[in-house]
Amino acid sequence: MTERFTGNFTQQEPIPDEGIAAALEVMKSGRLHRYNLVGDEVGETGMLEREFAAYTGAKYALAVASGGYAMATALRAIGVKPGEKVLTNAFTLAPVPGAIASMGAVPVFVGVTEGLTIDLEDLEAKLGQAQVLMLSHMRGHLCDMDRLMALCNDAGVTVIEDCAHTMGAAWRGVPSGRHGLIGCYSTQTYKHMNSGEGGLFVTDDDEVMARATILSGSYMLYGRNGTVPPAEVFEEVKYHTPNVSGRMDHLRAAILRPQLARLDAQCAAWNARYQAVEAGLRDTGGLTIVERPEEETYVGSSIQFLLLDWSEAKIDEVVSRCKARGVELKWFGGAEPAGFTSRYDSWRYAPSERMPKSDRILKGILDMRLPLTFSVEDCALIARIIRAEVSAVYQAG
Ligand SMILES: *Cc1c(COP(=O)(O)O)cnc(C)c1O
Repeated sequence: MTERFTGNFTQQEPIPDEGIAAALEVMKSGRLHRYNLVGDEVGETGMLEREFAAYTGAKYALAVASGGYAMATALRAIGVKPGEKVLTNAFTLAPVPGAIASMGAVPVFVGVTEGLTIDLEDLEAKLGQAQVLMLSHMRGHLCDMDRLMALCNDAGVTVIEDCAHTMGAAWRGVPSGRHGLIGCYSTQTYKHMNSGEGGLFVTDDDEVMARATILSGSYMLYGRNGTVPPAEVFEEVKYHTPNVSGRMDHLRAAILRPQLARLDAQCAAWNARYQAVEAGLRDTGGLTIVERPEEETYVGSSIQFLLLDWSEAKIDEVVSRCKARGVELKWFGGAEPAGFTSRYDSWRYAPSERMPKSDRILKGILDMRLPLTFSVEDCALIARIIRAEVSAVYQAG
């Protein structure tokens, strides 16, 4: 009998009951705007900021409208100017070069390794071109953060981390988002906490936080935020920083707080699923597992494997054979941007030199989401299906 999988790759878990109850309370109050507070009430948004700062160990956290907004705010808060070059990963998602382009700045793409992390040799070669690196931990893969930070510190390059897929992850015990000057997270439905849309921004820097707070649309109510730099830091900043509204509201924060409380348990649940798929795919002819470094505490909310040097036709065949059995693989290497996938050369507003070593890897990346609505047994079944179909196409030569 041919096994088939019938689960839905975009089905997330429900919002926890406490989150639904808290959201109802916010709605009953009618006070959804983050600064609609009574007396010295902190409110759901301010509480989320305090709790997220505590979770990451950051001095400050700011809750905003999206991950992309957090990244653009980071660039504004450090004074990136139109026309300025900003280094970023060639392997990333469209909102990352998009955040850079939204500033009128120019993305300069850095290559990718077989470990799906930024190519540190290519980075070293390009460090002289820019003063800022928007480092995307794409699909949850962390590079050697010690080496990256040493390279960037030596070159005087400021690091902003895109942690859309690494909320809850760490490198050598240091949380993702806490290596660079600023960490940016997303709470969009397909990330590690789900408020539909949303983002978080963390930093230890007083002035960067003051600017980000004003930028986010605090009007002159910034003192009511969850984590606030000393009043004197705002004295200059408040006259010179534009308001680019992108606040989070109490409703979303109410939904997120119970999710943050159980985030570590969720991450463990993702990893059990990830490890089931990985174990099932190991030693499949023609298929390369993306090995995870020992220093990395990852969150396996999605899994990638490589079909290196396979023809496009053969990869297409694997994708469609898996799909016929209910397993949705995304191919990042496709020439046309489709769904969430796209290649650096499809962002034509940011032209780039070809990177043959990276192109070889990008062409071979297959990706699959692992929503927590899948059981560990589901994941073992998914791996059996992929293994069988990859092997069938590989052996047909
Ligand atoms: C989702 C995502 C973002 C941005 O998140 P939004 O909240 O959708 O703006 C940034 N980087 C990566 C790698 C992502 O996957």
